[in-house]
Amino acid sequence: MFSTLHTNDAPSSVTRIIDLGLEPFLLTATLEAIIAQRLVRRICVACRTEYEPTDEELFELELTRSDVVERTFFYGKGCKECNGTGYRGRIGLFEFMVMTDRLRELIMTSASTAALRKAAQEDGMRTLRESGLLHIFDGITTIEEVVRETIAVG
Ligand SMILES: [Zn+2]
Repeated sequence: MFSTLHTNDAPSSVTRIIDLGLEPFLLTATLEAIIAQRLVRRICVACRTEYEPTDEELFELELTRSDVVERTFFYGKGCKECNGTGYRGRIGLFEFMVMTDRLRELIMTSASTAALRKAAQEDGMRTLRESGLLHIFDGITTIEEVVRETIAVG
């Protein structure tokens, strides 16, 4: 069975479901995985342009100059193809949290969203923000889009 909830990220879905009254043991017995998704606008390929982000923009992503030495950043200048917006179409960012024994134990002990997120990341979960960064570095979307649609989570 698939179900949809509106939350910030995958780990907060767990705490949300339990807040709604589901017994933790029922959740851990039945839940296989959670996928969080955010849609961001794609940079228009007709007017995509390389540029140097400001320190402020990098700061918004919680990155410093030295984190992005080898990286290239892009934005859309605006053209006829994109009605001057610099964007055309959308793409999904995903966060895929697979239930592990460790996560099940944390859920059974009513662990916080932060604790669930930390454990999930240690078990290999790529966060929405990290997915966004990869799309920025691939020239698919902008810093602005990722900052607006995702939260920084360590
Ligand atoms: Zn364009």
